[in-house]
Parts: sequence; C-alpha cells; structure tokens
Amino acid sequence: MPPSAAYRAATCHQDLGPDFYDIVQPARFPDLILRYRNQRWAEKVGLGSLTDEEWIDHFGRFTPLPENLDQPLALRYHGHQFRSYNPHLGDGRGFLFAQVRDAEDGRLLDLATKGSGQTPWSRHADGRLTLKGGVREILATEMLEALGVDTSKSFSLIETGEDLERGDEPSPTRSSVLVRLSHSHIRIGTFQRFLYLNEPHNIRKLLDYSVRTYMPEIWHDDEAARAIAFLEEVCRRVARMGAQWMAAGFVHGVLNTDNINITGESFDYGSWRFLPSYDPAFTAAYFDETGLYAFGRQPDALLWNLYRLAECLLPLAPQASLEQALATFEPALHREFPATITRRLGLQSKGVEQDGALAKAVWTFLHESKAPFEQTFFDWYGGALSTERAKKSPSSAIYDQASFEPVQHALSTFEPTPGIRFDHPYFAREKPCTMLIEEVEALWAPIAAEDNWSSLKTKLGDIRNMAEAYVSAFD
Ligand code: AMP
Ligand code: MG
Repeated sequence: MPPSAAYRAATCHQDLGPDFYDIVQPARFPDLILRYRNQRWAEKVGLGSLTDEEWIDHFGRFTPLPENLDQPLALRYHGHQFRSYNPHLGDGRGFLFAQVRDAEDGRLLDLATKGSGQTPWSRHADGRLTLKGGVREILATEMLEALGVDTSKSFSLIETGEDLERGDEPSPTRSSVLVRLSHSHIRIGTFQRFLYLNEPHNIRKLLDYSVRTYMPEIWHDDEAARAIAFLEEVCRRVARMGAQWMAAGFVHGVLNTDNINITGESFDYGSWRFLPSYDPAFTAAYFDETGLYAFGRQPDALLWNLYRLAECLLPLAPQASLEQALATFEPALHREFPATITRRLGLQSKGVEQDGALAKAVWTFLHESKAPFEQTFFDWYGGALSTERAKKSPSSAIYDQASFEPVQHALSTFEPTPGIRFDHPYFAREKPCTMLIEEVEALWAPIAAEDNWSSLKTKLGDIRNMAEAYVSAFD
C-alpha cells in the first residue's frame, strides 16, 4: 500500500557516503508476531494506514519503504564506555532502516532497529534483542514521553521466535526486533571515530551535515564559528535533556558517548530505572559498580561526554573557544532544571530566580523527607490549588512536616499554567502512574509465564492517560 500524504521520504543519511555506514542484510526470523505498534506516531509520520501484515513486512522483514533507503545501513561509531575508549563499537545489532518526516514540524526522524541481526560491528555477539529488552524499551519511552522528556519513541516490537542466551535473564529467553523512531542517531561517538581515525575531512563533513539537518538556524559560513556554535547548541540541548531526566527522577543507566545523541534527544534504554525516592547515589545498571552513572552524577557524566565532543572539533576551531562553548553547559542546566520542575508542577514560570527558589525547595524536601518522588509531583500539580487534594494523599503526613514548609511557601507564590487539565480524571486517583523496577518485573512476569500481555496493555493505557493529563503543562 502506498504511504499516506503525510509520509515524506527523506533519505539523507546515505548522502554522507560509505565512510559513515555499512550496507547490511536483516536477519530472517523463524516467526513474526506483532506485539506493539505505535499508531499515534505512525500517523504522525504518514504510516498509520499500513495494515498489520504490511507493518510486519516492513518492520519484521524489512522490506524497504517506498522511496526510502533501498538497503539498511549499519552506522559506524566508536565511544567511551565507562570512560574507556572502545574503537570496536558501531551498530552491532541494529541499522538505519528509513528516514521520514514528522508531519507536524517537519523534523527528520530515523526508523532504526535493535535486534535485527548481525553486522560487521557485532563482534562475537548474536545481533539480537531479547523480548524483555524490547518490552523494557517500550516502557521507558512511553513513560518518559508522558513525563515531558524529549525521547526517542518505540515504534514497533515484533517477537521473532528465537531462543537467546543471556547472562542477565533466565535463559533461553525469547527474542524480538524493535524499531525506534528517533530524531537522529548521530552520537558523540560518531564524531569520535573520525578523530581516532585522524580523518578531519569527515569530522567537517559530519559537522556540516549535522548543522544543516538538525540545527540550520545556527549555521555560520565561517567554519570555526560553525563548530563553536554547534558545540554550544549541543551543550544546550544535552543540558535540557539532563534537566528533564532529573525532574522526571530518571536514571538512564549507561551514559557512554555512543548513547548521547547530538540532537539532545534521549535514547537507547537498556538498564534504566526510575527513582522510588530522591537518592543521588541511586544506580540503574547492575554492572555500574562504582555508581559512575548514578542519578546525581548524570549532569557531570553528560558534561564529561561533551568534553569528548569538543575534542573532536579541535581540528576545526581554537581550543579556547571550544572551552568557552563547553562553559555554557552548566548555566544552561541551571536555567533548564528549575523551568522543568515548574512545568512538571503545572505552574507558570516566574523567571529563573523564582523558579530556582521553588526547585531548590522541592529538591531539598525530596532529599530530606525521602517522600515518594513521583507522588510529590502528582500531589502538588497545580500548586496551592492542590492543598485539599494533597490531604488525601498517602504522603499527607509528610507534607505536615516542617521540611515541607518552604515548598508550601514557594508554591503559594505561583499560578497554575493557564489551560492545564487540572480536573482530568487522572488527578482524582490516590496514586500516580509510576514505573519502578518491581512494577517492570511484575509486568514482564505474566508475559514470561503464560504469554499474557494484558497487564502490559493496561499499563500502556494508564501511561497514555497520564500523558493526556499532563499534556497542557508540556506544550
Ligand atoms: P548498547 O549497550 O545497546 O548501547 O550496545 C553497545 C554496543 O554493543 C553497540 O555497539 C551494540 O551494537 C553492541 N551490542 C550490544 N548487544 C549486542 C548483541 N546482542 N549483538 C551484537 N552487538 C551488540
Ligand atoms: Mg547504545
């Protein structure tokens, strides 16, 4: 079936040329069972009218989309993993399948895979994704999107009928192929590879492509000025992403340079977790033994990664100017974080200073009281207007403590965001929708035990309901 009018083929990445990718073949799977189809986003990119059969054909067998990439491209990149440089990375179990446009704002979006078979970058691994890994990525992306975080979307999940061996799941375990929709897959590690290979002409090419495609408004004809403006822009976007994670109580888990997108869109969810209560030392990945990527260390980890991007630009711009560009990260974070907290609370910004005072009060309270993280934002959505509602909360006794007084005071100086859906049925509940690790495990258990997907479906509905309730705060 031809795609709908909204579909616009846009195969830009291949214009970069063969130094940037390898043409690969998708795996042939013994079975293809559609488990998740993101209809909302399919419609936004003009693919909403595909039948399920056609969907499986494109996102399970990888029959090319009309007027799009003829063959999948495994992208080349390197990266620092837990601060050690690894020149053997690259799309080892994924590829870029197609590029499409967001019908609303025209952004270029990638349809890229995880678990679609081996590539030259698989090293000795199988190129596959476990079904549980796919389900976890869906849960992370749905939840983050609902909480107002700029994230990649899970687009499709198809179970593929293979048995996989994994050290971190009871094995054999079921297999899947995920398609994700993402605003670029150009990572800091994509730049790092050309620094390592000493190919400044390709750094230049990648810089120009990135600016033209993802941030044309900062284009400068002078190359050094362009490199500096690019670094500043990536710092700003990554700072915003970090602020959004912190305000959402989210721990990404693996902040290696190959997992940081130059567009500042959060992506690649393996070992993520949400905080039960504020804890800067809270760590998501079981293999993060030193807590390098713990909740409270995420901003530092992001800045460390941005330094690695700056190094890649040294052939193009003076070091002192790149350092100045890096220095914009912290102020950007300090601007974005209070604004994000204010938005999460459904309140109208009162500028950096007053938003900052509110964010500080909330953060100090969460730290001292150990109140349930998400519950606090839920209870005080709309600010002082929620005083009566918060009395019915399971956390109400905590709000009577002295540590809450500064929050109460700060809240009383803010007005709710005009048009927030404060009366949405979501806010009539006692407890918010959360995604703590034990909930993730409980959602997976019936799928593993009896192929029962009903709890997952209910949860996804619950998350959408939350997203609808919050949407006006994040517009
Ligand atoms: P990730 O942890 O998903 O960001 O992956 C880090 C690197 O390991 C990337 O280069 C992946 O492509 C590669 N990788 C992870 N798991 C597999 C696998 N099962 N097969 C092939 N490559 C993999
Ligand atoms: Mg990765």
